[in-house]
Amino acid sequence: MKAVIFLGPPGAGKGTQAKKLSEEKGLQHISTGDMLRAAVSEGSELGEKVAGIMERGELVSDDLMIEIIKERTAKPDCERGYILDGFPRTVPQAEAIKKLLSDVKSEIVYFSLAEEEIKNRLETRRKEENRADDELQTQLERLKVYQEKTAPLIDYYRKSGDLIEVSAEGSVEEVYQRLESALAS
Ligand code: AMP
Repeated sequence: MKAVIFLGPPGAGKGTQAKKLSEEKGLQHISTGDMLRAAVSEGSELGEKVAGIMERGELVSDDLMIEIIKERTAKPDCERGYILDGFPRTVPQAEAIKKLLSDVKSEIVYFSLAEEEIKNRLETRRKEENRADDELQTQLERLKVYQEKTAPLIDYYRKSGDLIEVSAEGSVEEVYQRLESALAS
């Protein structure tokens, strides 16, 4: 059992890399963004609760997200291990996952990307994909929220000596090569 946690700004390619790593290593890919988007399109109670928050680019509450992650990681398809893509996003979420993973071998990967490149990639995504939370205003808000609430996690993990930094510049293949050689196995 092993857990890999992906951190990084929107546009860094966490989802793409998580999908690839999941296929190669047989780890379950858990994307909180995908889970929430699925809930919104199903029109479930959870979906109704989070739709507006997501459209504005804000964060869903820590309590709700922690509950969702606890439930999801307890499922049998996570027994071999999993990749967390999009969680944690705040210090309280990081504290919660630390408790949950106290007996589990875990690796924390930070995908770093220069601000200008983040903006370029988000612009490309806006043109190519039709994601309700990828309108310009939403993207800008998400970037701001990332800087305020999620970026502090980089120092949080760096201080505990746990952070693996991988440059997210370049092609999907190049980034994946770096990721694979940075991970223990
Ligand atoms: P993502 O696809 O990971 O960028 O997530 C899309 C949106 O879902 C975010 O902008 C948030 O509104 C919400 N979301 C996803 N993961 C979390 C989380 N761990 N904590 C709070 N909100 C989240």
